Amino acid sequence: QTHEQILTVSSLSTSYGRIQALYDVDLSIRSGEIVALVGANGAGKSTLLMTLSGLQPADSGTITYRHHDLTRMPAHRRVHEGIVQIPEGRQVFRDLSVHDNLLMGAYTRGRDAQVMTDLDNIYSRFPVLRQKQHQLAGMLSGGQQQMLAIGRALMAAPRLLLLDEPSMGLAPLVVEEIFNILRDLNREGITLFLVEQNASQALSIADRGYVLEAGKVVLSGSGEQLLADDKVREAYLGL
Ligand code: ATP
Repeated sequence: QTHEQILTVSSLSTSYGRIQALYDVDLSIRSGEIVALVGANGAGKSTLLMTLSGLQPADSGTITYRHHDLTRMPAHRRVHEGIVQIPEGRQVFRDLSVHDNLLMGAYTRGRDAQVMTDLDNIYSRFPVLRQKQHQLAGMLSGGQQQMLAIGRALMAAPRLLLLDEPSMGLAPLVVEEIFNILRDLNREGITLFLVEQNASQALSIADRGYVLEAGKVVLSGSGEQLLADDKVREAYLGL
């Protein structure tokens, strides 16, 4: 299932004014993979995702996606190219209906005939969203909001999903459900780049992982290798 490189990041640096958050980050993601990014609070994980999705400009370095340099491409065009971020805290439009939240996800696709078919597929994948399609998104439980955030991202027809802490604030059984959904999406061909505080869960579904510390990649390897690594076990798994 794993093929050629879909994303290559070389020597990427990002700052907020005078605060540098990423230092010369190198990483690559192959088509069909699940790649996890773990690291402590403030390590720069969200900054990396936002730089990849174009919400935060890069200072230097390059982002190559499917053989194109998109380092300076605006965020909406990256979505159109198939790079879709699911932000930390889900960020659903609380005052819009479930249905309208999903349609917002297809914003960059215009009047694509496939949109309504995709919507129906998402409702079939998440029956609870179909059932609650006319309710305000703010009324959903945390797990349902995460499903809605995933559904909204799927409406953009992603090839590469960037997920920022999808398990945050969810009960263990719900986390399990969300991770099962992510596995299914990957099996269906979507490449996943997953940021998680929950390192053990993320690394156990990941083909490969990277460890970010103070804005730098300090370690990388297969999910298995990282799970077995003493430093990772001590710092991120509490073992
Ligand atoms: P968390 O898990 O807490 O989200 P993170 O690994 O995602 O942590 P980032 O949010 O990317 O880390 O933050 C990286 C660094 O950049 C931190 O030092 C943070 O204080 C700083 N930072 C993040 N956002 C901003 C901002 N908008 N303005 C200034 N500094 C910021």
